[in-house]
Amino acid sequence: MTYPTPRRRVVLLGATGSIGRQACDVIAKFPDRFELVGAVAGRDAAALEAIATRFGVARTALVHPDPSATLPEGCESGMDAACEIAAMDADVVCVAITGAAAIRPTLAAIDAGASVATATKEVLVMAGELVKARAAAAGARIIPIDSEHSALWQCLRGEDPSSVSRLVLTASGGPFLKRPLDTFATITPAEALAHPTWNMGPKVTIDSATMMNKGLEVIEAHFLFDTPYASIDVSIHPTSIVHSWVEFRDGAVVAQMGVPDMRVPIALALADGERLPGVGPHLDLRDVSPLEFLPVDGERFPAVALARMAGERGGLAPCIFNAANEEAVTAFTAAKCRFDEIVPLVGAALEAFGEGDASTLDGVLAADGWARDFVRANTAETVAAR
Ligand code: MG
Repeated sequence: MTYPTPRRRVVLLGATGSIGRQACDVIAKFPDRFELVGAVAGRDAAALEAIATRFGVARTALVHPDPSATLPEGCESGMDAACEIAAMDADVVCVAITGAAAIRPTLAAIDAGASVATATKEVLVMAGELVKARAAAAGARIIPIDSEHSALWQCLRGEDPSSVSRLVLTASGGPFLKRPLDTFATITPAEALAHPTWNMGPKVTIDSATMMNKGLEVIEAHFLFDTPYASIDVSIHPTSIVHSWVEFRDGAVVAQMGVPDMRVPIALALADGERLPGVGPHLDLRDVSPLEFLPVDGERFPAVALARMAGERGGLAPCIFNAANEEAVTAFTAAKCRFDEIVPLVGAALEAFGEGDASTLDGVLAADGWARDFVRANTAETVAAR
Protein backbone atom coordinates (compact mmCIF):
# COMPACT_ATOMS: atom_id res chain seq x y z
CA MET A 1 0.00 0.00 0.00
CA THR A 2 1.27 3.45 -0.81
CA TYR A 3 0.61 6.41 1.41
CA PRO A 4 0.03 9.89 0.03
CA THR A 5 2.97 12.23 0.51
CA PRO A 6 2.23 14.49 3.49
CA ARG A 7 1.34 17.97 2.37
CA ARG A 8 3.98 20.62 2.93
CA ARG A 9 2.81 23.28 5.37
CA VAL A 10 3.42 26.70 3.81
CA VAL A 11 3.49 30.16 5.38
CA LEU A 12 3.28 33.00 2.88
CA LEU A 13 4.62 36.44 3.79
CA GLY A 14 3.59 39.11 1.30
CA ALA A 15 0.63 37.03 0.13
CA THR A 16 -1.13 39.72 -1.92
CA GLY A 17 1.81 41.03 -3.98
CA SER A 18 3.01 39.77 -7.36
CA ILE A 19 5.05 36.82 -6.04
CA GLY A 20 2.49 36.10 -3.31
CA ARG A 21 -0.34 35.80 -5.82
CA GLN A 22 1.73 33.49 -8.02
CA ALA A 23 2.62 31.39 -4.96
CA CYS A 24 -1.13 31.09 -4.32
CA ASP A 25 -1.56 29.90 -7.95
CA VAL A 26 1.03 27.18 -7.30
CA ILE A 27 -0.56 26.11 -4.00
CA ALA A 28 -4.01 26.03 -5.63
CA LYS A 29 -2.68 23.92 -8.53
CA PHE A 30 -1.25 21.30 -6.17
CA PRO A 31 -3.72 21.04 -3.26
CA ASP A 32 -2.49 17.51 -2.53
CA ARG A 33 1.06 18.81 -2.06
CA PHE A 34 0.72 22.11 -0.22
CA GLU A 35 -1.32 23.42 2.68
CA LEU A 36 -1.33 27.17 3.28
CA VAL A 37 -1.31 27.54 7.08
CA GLY A 38 -0.35 31.20 7.52
CA ALA A 39 -0.54 34.31 5.36
CA VAL A 40 0.66 37.85 5.94
CA ALA A 41 0.00 40.92 3.80
CA GLY A 42 0.83 44.62 4.05
CA ARG A 43 -2.47 46.45 3.89
CA ASP A 44 -4.78 44.77 1.35
CA ALA A 45 -7.45 43.41 3.73
CA ALA A 46 -9.88 42.30 1.01
CA ALA A 47 -7.25 40.32 -0.92
CA LEU A 48 -5.93 38.69 2.27
CA GLU A 49 -9.45 37.75 3.36
CA ALA A 50 -10.06 36.17 -0.05
CA ILE A 51 -6.89 34.07 0.34
CA ALA A 52 -7.90 33.07 3.88
CA THR A 53 -11.27 31.86 2.65
CA ARG A 54 -9.96 30.16 -0.49
CA PHE A 55 -7.33 28.12 1.35
CA GLY A 56 -8.83 27.87 4.85
CA VAL A 57 -5.74 29.56 6.31
CA ALA A 58 -5.35 29.10 10.09
CA ARG A 59 -3.64 32.43 10.83
CA THR A 60 -3.53 35.70 8.90
CA ALA A 61 -2.18 39.16 9.67
CA LEU A 62 -2.00 42.60 8.11
CA VAL A 63 1.20 44.46 8.95
CA HIS A 64 -0.18 47.94 8.20
CA PRO A 65 -3.99 47.72 8.37
CA ASP A 66 -6.06 50.78 7.50
CA PRO A 67 -6.76 52.24 10.99
CA SER A 68 -10.19 53.49 9.89
CA ALA A 69 -11.38 50.05 8.69
CA THR A 70 -12.36 46.97 10.67
CA LEU A 71 -10.03 43.98 10.35
CA PRO A 72 -11.42 40.86 8.66
CA GLU A 73 -12.64 38.32 11.22
CA GLY A 74 -9.78 36.42 12.84
CA CYS A 75 -7.13 38.55 11.12
CA GLU A 76 -4.33 39.81 13.35
CA SER A 77 -2.42 43.04 12.86
CA GLY A 78 1.07 44.48 13.23
CA MET A 79 4.65 43.38 12.73
CA ASP A 80 4.75 41.26 15.90
CA ALA A 81 1.82 39.18 14.65
CA ALA A 82 3.55 38.84 11.27
CA CYS A 83 6.67 37.57 13.00
CA GLU A 84 4.64 35.06 15.05
CA ILE A 85 3.07 33.70 11.87
CA ALA A 86 6.52 33.56 10.24
CA ALA A 87 7.63 31.39 13.16
CA MET A 88 4.65 28.99 12.94
CA ASP A 89 5.34 25.28 12.67
CA ALA A 90 5.76 25.15 8.88
CA ASP A 91 7.83 23.20 6.37
CA VAL A 92 8.53 26.25 4.29
CA VAL A 93 8.12 29.98 4.81
CA CYS A 94 7.85 31.88 1.55
CA VAL A 95 9.08 35.47 1.87
CA ALA A 96 7.60 37.74 -0.79
CA ILE A 97 7.41 41.05 1.07
CA THR A 98 8.98 43.86 -0.94
CA GLY A 99 12.17 45.36 0.38
CA ALA A 100 13.77 45.87 3.77
CA ALA A 101 10.39 45.58 5.54
CA ALA A 102 10.83 41.81 5.23
CA ILE A 103 13.79 41.60 7.58
CA ARG A 104 12.05 40.96 10.92
CA PRO A 105 9.68 38.23 9.70
CA THR A 106 12.48 36.64 7.69
CA LEU A 107 14.66 36.44 10.80
CA ALA A 108 11.70 35.09 12.79
CA ALA A 109 11.26 32.28 10.25
CA ILE A 110 15.00 31.56 10.25
CA ASP A 111 15.18 31.48 14.05
CA ALA A 112 12.31 28.95 14.03
CA GLY A 113 14.48 26.72 11.84
CA ALA A 114 12.15 26.71 8.83
CA SER A 115 13.20 26.36 5.21
CA VAL A 116 12.95 29.92 3.99
CA ALA A 117 12.07 30.32 0.32
CA THR A 118 12.85 33.94 -0.32
CA ALA A 119 12.01 36.26 -3.17
CA THR A 120 13.14 39.28 -1.15
CA LYS A 121 16.73 39.86 -2.23
CA GLU A 122 16.82 43.09 -0.22
CA VAL A 123 17.01 41.16 3.07
CA LEU A 124 20.10 39.22 2.00
CA VAL A 125 21.68 42.39 0.64
CA MET A 126 21.05 44.53 3.72
CA ALA A 127 21.96 41.88 6.27
CA GLY A 128 23.66 38.98 4.48
CA GLU A 129 26.14 38.21 7.24
CA LEU A 130 23.52 38.45 9.99
CA VAL A 131 21.01 36.31 8.07
CA LYS A 132 23.60 33.63 7.33
CA ALA A 133 24.85 33.53 10.92
CA ARG A 134 21.28 33.19 12.26
CA ALA A 135 20.44 30.51 9.67
CA ALA A 136 23.53 28.51 10.60
CA ALA A 137 22.68 28.80 14.32
CA ALA A 138 19.07 27.62 13.80
CA GLY A 139 19.78 25.03 11.11
CA ALA A 140 17.52 26.94 8.69
CA ARG A 141 17.96 26.71 4.93
CA ILE A 142 17.56 29.61 2.53
CA ILE A 143 16.17 28.68 -0.88
CA PRO A 144 16.14 31.32 -3.61
CA ILE A 145 13.01 32.23 -5.58
CA ASP A 146 14.65 35.06 -7.51
CA SER A 147 14.76 33.54 -11.02
CA GLU A 148 18.51 34.00 -11.57
CA HIS A 149 19.42 32.54 -8.19
CA SER A 150 16.98 29.69 -8.57
CA ALA A 151 18.71 29.03 -11.89
CA LEU A 152 22.13 29.01 -10.23
CA TRP A 153 20.81 26.76 -7.46
CA GLN A 154 19.53 24.34 -10.11
CA CYS A 155 22.84 24.45 -12.04
CA LEU A 156 24.84 23.85 -8.85
CA ARG A 157 22.81 20.92 -7.51
CA GLY A 158 25.04 17.93 -6.99
CA GLU A 159 28.19 19.83 -7.96
CA ASP A 160 31.31 20.25 -5.85
CA PRO A 161 31.49 23.99 -4.94
CA SER A 162 35.25 23.96 -5.48
CA SER A 163 34.72 23.04 -9.15
CA VAL A 164 32.87 26.29 -9.91
CA SER A 165 34.87 28.97 -11.68
CA ARG A 166 32.23 31.62 -12.32
CA LEU A 167 28.54 32.42 -11.83
CA VAL A 168 26.94 34.50 -14.59
CA LEU A 169 23.66 36.27 -13.88
CA THR A 170 21.61 37.22 -16.91
CA ALA A 171 19.74 40.51 -17.16
CA SER A 172 17.13 41.48 -19.72
CA GLY A 173 18.49 45.02 -19.76
CA GLY A 174 14.98 46.30 -19.05
CA PRO A 175 13.04 48.79 -21.17
CA PHE A 176 15.97 51.18 -21.72
CA LEU A 177 18.57 48.89 -23.23
CA LYS A 178 18.48 50.81 -26.49
CA ARG A 179 17.05 54.18 -25.45
CA PRO A 180 19.39 57.09 -26.31
CA LEU A 181 21.45 57.94 -23.22
CA ASP A 182 20.83 61.68 -23.59
CA THR A 183 17.11 61.09 -22.95
CA PHE A 184 17.52 59.23 -19.62
CA ALA A 185 16.81 62.43 -17.65
CA THR A 186 13.27 62.54 -19.04
CA ILE A 187 12.30 58.92 -18.30
CA THR A 188 8.92 58.79 -16.52
CA PRO A 189 7.81 56.25 -13.89
CA ALA A 190 5.26 54.86 -16.38
CA GLU A 191 8.04 54.20 -18.90
CA ALA A 192 10.21 52.55 -16.21
CA LEU A 193 7.29 50.35 -15.13
CA ALA A 194 6.91 48.72 -18.57
CA HIS A 195 9.22 45.69 -18.38
CA PRO A 196 9.81 43.86 -21.68
CA THR A 197 9.92 40.23 -20.42
CA TRP A 198 9.01 39.78 -16.74
CA ASN A 199 5.70 40.65 -15.10
CA MET A 200 6.73 41.82 -11.60
CA GLY A 201 5.92 44.23 -8.78
CA PRO A 202 6.66 47.96 -9.17
CA LYS A 203 9.83 48.17 -7.02
CA VAL A 204 11.68 45.38 -8.82
CA THR A 205 10.47 46.64 -12.21
CA ILE A 206 12.02 50.08 -11.65
CA ASP A 207 15.15 48.36 -10.28
CA SER A 208 15.30 46.40 -13.53
CA ALA A 209 15.13 49.61 -15.55
CA THR A 210 18.13 51.08 -13.67
CA MET A 211 19.75 47.63 -13.40
CA MET A 212 19.95 48.26 -9.65
CA ASN A 213 18.11 44.94 -9.55
CA LYS A 214 21.11 43.16 -11.08
CA GLY A 215 23.40 45.00 -8.68
CA LEU A 216 21.34 43.73 -5.75
CA GLU A 217 21.40 40.26 -7.30
CA VAL A 218 25.21 40.23 -7.52
CA ILE A 219 25.33 40.82 -3.75
CA GLU A 220 22.52 38.29 -3.20
CA ALA A 221 24.48 35.65 -5.16
CA HIS A 222 27.61 36.39 -3.13
CA PHE A 223 25.78 35.60 0.10
CA LEU A 224 23.66 32.69 -1.19
CA PHE A 225 26.49 30.76 -2.81
CA ASP A 226 29.55 31.96 -0.85
CA THR A 227 31.08 33.14 -4.10
CA PRO A 228 33.66 35.95 -4.21
CA TYR A 229 32.57 39.03 -6.18
CA ALA A 230 35.39 38.53 -8.67
CA SER A 231 33.73 35.24 -9.70
CA ILE A 232 30.25 36.71 -10.26
CA ASP A 233 29.57 38.23 -13.67
CA VAL A 234 26.53 39.74 -15.39
CA SER A 235 25.47 39.37 -19.02
CA ILE A 236 22.68 41.15 -20.84
CA HIS A 237 20.32 38.62 -22.42
CA PRO A 238 17.28 40.52 -23.71
CA THR A 239 14.75 37.68 -24.00
CA SER A 240 15.32 36.20 -20.48
CA ILE A 241 15.26 32.59 -21.71
CA VAL A 242 18.57 31.67 -20.05
CA HIS A 243 17.98 32.56 -16.41
CA SER A 244 21.68 32.30 -15.46
CA TRP A 245 24.59 29.95 -15.95
CA VAL A 246 27.55 28.43 -14.13
CA GLU A 247 31.03 27.95 -15.58
CA PHE A 248 33.01 25.04 -14.15
CA ARG A 249 36.77 24.64 -13.95
CA ASP A 250 36.86 21.88 -16.58
CA GLY A 251 35.37 24.28 -19.14
CA ALA A 252 31.81 22.96 -18.92
CA VAL A 253 28.98 25.48 -18.77
CA VAL A 254 25.59 24.61 -17.27
CA ALA A 255 22.69 26.99 -17.91
CA GLN A 256 19.09 26.88 -16.74
CA MET A 257 16.45 27.97 -19.23
CA GLY A 258 12.73 28.41 -19.53
CA VAL A 259 9.97 30.72 -20.65
CA PRO A 260 10.03 33.58 -18.10
CA ASP A 261 7.45 32.56 -15.49
CA MET A 262 8.01 33.07 -11.77
CA ARG A 263 5.74 30.16 -10.88
CA VAL A 264 8.54 27.76 -11.86
CA PRO A 265 11.11 28.97 -9.29
CA ILE A 266 8.31 29.47 -6.72
CA ALA A 267 7.07 25.87 -7.09
CA LEU A 268 10.60 24.48 -7.03
CA ALA A 269 11.37 26.36 -3.80
CA LEU A 270 8.07 25.44 -2.11
CA ALA A 271 8.57 21.77 -3.05
CA ASP A 272 12.16 21.82 -1.75
CA GLY A 273 13.68 21.15 -5.16
CA GLU A 274 11.18 18.62 -6.45
CA ARG A 275 9.98 19.30 -9.99
CA LEU A 276 6.18 19.35 -10.09
CA PRO A 277 4.41 18.66 -13.39
CA GLY A 278 3.15 21.38 -15.73
CA VAL A 279 4.11 24.41 -13.66
CA GLY A 280 5.39 26.64 -16.47
CA PRO A 281 4.86 26.86 -20.23
CA HIS A 282 6.71 24.48 -22.56
CA LEU A 283 9.92 25.80 -24.11
CA ASP A 284 11.25 24.62 -27.48
CA LEU A 285 14.67 26.22 -27.99
CA ARG A 286 14.11 26.28 -31.76
CA ASP A 287 11.29 28.76 -31.19
CA VAL A 288 13.56 31.27 -29.41
CA SER A 289 16.64 31.04 -31.64
CA PRO A 290 19.05 32.78 -31.82
CA LEU A 291 19.76 33.64 -28.18
CA GLU A 292 21.64 36.92 -27.75
CA PHE A 293 24.17 37.78 -25.02
CA LEU A 294 25.84 41.16 -24.58
CA PRO A 295 28.24 42.75 -22.08
CA VAL A 296 26.83 45.32 -19.63
CA ASP A 297 27.46 48.89 -20.80
CA GLY A 298 28.83 50.54 -17.63
CA GLU A 299 27.97 54.06 -18.80
CA ARG A 300 24.33 53.18 -19.47
CA PHE A 301 24.02 51.00 -16.34
CA PRO A 302 26.45 52.20 -13.62
CA ALA A 303 24.41 50.34 -10.96
CA VAL A 304 26.18 47.01 -11.43
CA ALA A 305 29.68 48.40 -10.81
CA LEU A 306 28.38 50.40 -7.83
CA ALA A 307 26.88 47.25 -6.30
CA ARG A 308 30.12 45.38 -6.79
CA MET A 309 31.96 48.20 -5.04
CA ALA A 310 29.49 48.17 -2.11
CA GLY A 311 29.75 44.38 -1.89
CA GLU A 312 33.55 44.41 -1.89
CA ARG A 313 33.56 47.10 0.78
CA GLY A 314 31.34 44.82 2.87
CA GLY A 315 30.10 45.59 6.39
CA LEU A 316 27.08 47.86 6.14
CA ALA A 317 27.84 49.17 2.65
CA PRO A 318 25.39 46.72 0.99
CA CYS A 319 22.76 47.81 3.53
CA ILE A 320 23.32 51.47 2.59
CA PHE A 321 23.21 50.53 -1.10
CA ASN A 322 19.86 48.79 -0.66
CA ALA A 323 18.16 51.35 1.59
CA ALA A 324 19.30 54.35 -0.44
CA ASN A 325 18.02 52.65 -3.57
CA GLU A 326 14.63 51.82 -2.04
CA GLU A 327 14.21 55.42 -0.97
CA ALA A 328 15.43 56.78 -4.32
CA VAL A 329 12.89 54.58 -6.13
CA THR A 330 10.17 56.00 -3.87
CA ALA A 331 11.41 59.53 -4.66
CA PHE A 332 11.43 58.78 -8.39
CA THR A 333 7.86 57.50 -8.37
CA ALA A 334 6.86 60.66 -6.42
CA ALA A 335 8.61 62.86 -9.05
CA LYS A 336 11.17 64.00 -6.48
CA CYS A 337 14.17 62.68 -8.37
CA ARG A 338 14.93 62.01 -12.00
CA PHE A 339 15.52 58.51 -13.30
CA ASP A 340 19.19 59.25 -14.00
CA GLU A 341 19.64 60.55 -10.43
CA ILE A 342 18.75 57.24 -8.71
CA VAL A 343 22.17 55.57 -9.02
CA PRO A 344 24.18 58.77 -8.24
CA LEU A 345 22.06 59.28 -5.10
CA VAL A 346 22.92 55.77 -3.94
CA GLY A 347 26.59 56.43 -4.72
CA ALA A 348 26.48 59.65 -2.71
CA ALA A 349 24.93 57.83 0.27
CA LEU A 350 27.68 55.21 0.14
CA GLU A 351 30.31 57.93 0.03
CA ALA A 352 28.82 59.85 2.97
CA PHE A 353 28.26 56.84 5.24
CA GLY A 354 30.70 56.26 8.08
CA GLU A 355 30.80 53.16 10.25
CA GLY A 356 28.36 50.85 12.02
CA ASP A 357 27.81 47.31 13.26
CA ALA A 358 26.68 44.86 10.56
CA SER A 359 26.47 41.94 12.99
CA THR A 360 23.34 43.05 14.86
CA LEU A 361 19.80 43.83 13.70
CA ASP A 362 19.95 47.19 15.51
CA GLY A 363 23.13 48.09 13.65
CA VAL A 364 21.58 47.10 10.32
CA LEU A 365 18.36 49.01 10.99
CA ALA A 366 20.29 52.12 12.10
CA ALA A 367 22.28 52.12 8.85
CA ASP A 368 19.10 51.48 6.85
CA GLY A 369 17.42 54.47 8.52
CA TRP A 370 20.47 56.69 8.02
CA ALA A 371 20.53 55.96 4.27
CA ARG A 372 16.80 56.67 3.93
CA ASP A 373 17.18 60.00 5.77
CA PHE A 374 20.13 60.87 3.53
CA VAL A 375 18.13 60.27 0.35
CA ARG A 376 15.01 62.02 1.69
CA ALA A 377 17.07 65.08 2.61
CA ASN A 378 18.45 65.16 -0.93
CA THR A 379 15.06 64.71 -2.62
CA ALA A 380 12.97 67.07 -0.52
CA GLU A 381 11.57 69.01 -3.50
CA THR A 382 9.84 67.80 -6.60
CA VAL A 383 11.90 67.82 -9.78
CA ALA A 384 9.52 70.41 -11.24
CA ALA A 385 9.97 72.76 -8.25
CA ARG A 386 13.75 72.76 -8.43
MG1 MG B 1 15.81 38.33 -10.56
